[in-house]
Amino acid sequence: MTDLPILQIAGLRKEYGSFVALKDIDLKVREGEFLTIVGPSGSGKTTLIKLLVGMEEQTEGSIWLRNIRLDRVPANQRPTCMVFQSLALFPHRSVGQNVEFPLKIKGVPAAKRKARALELLAMFRLPESYFDKRIGQCSGGERQRIALARALAFDPEILFFDEPLSALDYRLRKTLEKELKALHLRTGKTFIYITHSLEEAMVMSDRIAILRAGRFEQIGTAEAIYNHPKSCFVAGFMGDVNLFDIGRDADSGSLTVPHFSISASAAKALVLPPDKKNTLMVRPEAVRLLAGDETADFVTRGEVTGHYLLGSRTQLEITQPDGKLIVVETANHGQDGHVGAAVRLGFDGAMAHLISEAIR
Ligand code: ATP
Repeated sequence: MTDLPILQIAGLRKEYGSFVALKDIDLKVREGEFLTIVGPSGSGKTTLIKLLVGMEEQTEGSIWLRNIRLDRVPANQRPTCMVFQSLALFPHRSVGQNVEFPLKIKGVPAAKRKARALELLAMFRLPESYFDKRIGQCSGGERQRIALARALAFDPEILFFDEPLSALDYRLRKTLEKELKALHLRTGKTFIYITHSLEEAMVMSDRIAILRAGRFEQIGTAEAIYNHPKSCFVAGFMGDVNLFDIGRDADSGSLTVPHFSISASAAKALVLPPDKKNTLMVRPEAVRLLAGDETADFVTRGEVTGHYLLGSRTQLEITQPDGKLIVVETANHGQDGHVGAAVRLGFDGAMAHLISEAIR
């Protein structure tokens, strides 16, 4: 992977009539990177991909492929390729004809086409006998692999994926996520992937860009976004999370989190930016039940109101006196914390992340 951006987006904006679907979009994608764009429904993911592949025209801004102004290249001449959720395979043609199609339109001779198509099918663990099979006779997972083989036959500079796995069942999706990641490493191509599923993004991506209402809220590695989200929106998007209001008491100036006692050292270590909405984020795995006189930097009490086995872990829901729910996850198999139990619980300051946002 080099540092030269293969794709650069500057000041991109898209309006549909008076509705602004995308605004202030700036992004640099490195050669060979796997970048995932995640966002809730309506945040503008598909619009962004449509601008990149040339299915829509931007209102403002520019898109560059290295030093080529990509947004001025007609869609059918762009060295990019899109893999859709709907796959768009030719249903009445054979698997081989589907994979060969991009080579055929490029004028590659028949024997060479077939050899390359077989090579691509083998890459996706589809045996030679599939070459003459009809698309209609293939399973959903097989079709997915065929669509990917066909996309690679275009030999694009960048592959765009629009939720290609969302229609598949859980196990197949998990297998294909890993295959896609392996494929990305093998081909060295640049992948830009859009999804609703953060889990999918975390497994596969080098970086994740979180889109919210047409704007990038945060762009970073999965680790950075998971552990150091810039906003409560990002924190909440990345799985279960506990968010606590944190402030200073108007009279005493001491640090307050409703219903928590706070150790002097933790209070001293936390610097709250003034004129901001400050929130303390703690992941469920960082909160623990406290036994006897065991202590922690932040301590509260509550009642266990939910107890769930999550395979190798246990999740507890604990309700504080004001009705606020705290989610706790432990690796042990939950001897402690039966529903109805009154518990003390807490976490250490080092395990918490302070989110400071502009007051809207
Ligand atoms: P989903 O995950 O549901 O597919 P998305 O993040 O891909 O959502 P987009 O399809 O990009 O969202 O849509 C972003 C916003 O732009 C939505 O509010 C949508 O209604 C609006 N929009 C999209 N296409 C058009 C259009 N052709 N005309 C008007 N508004 C549109």
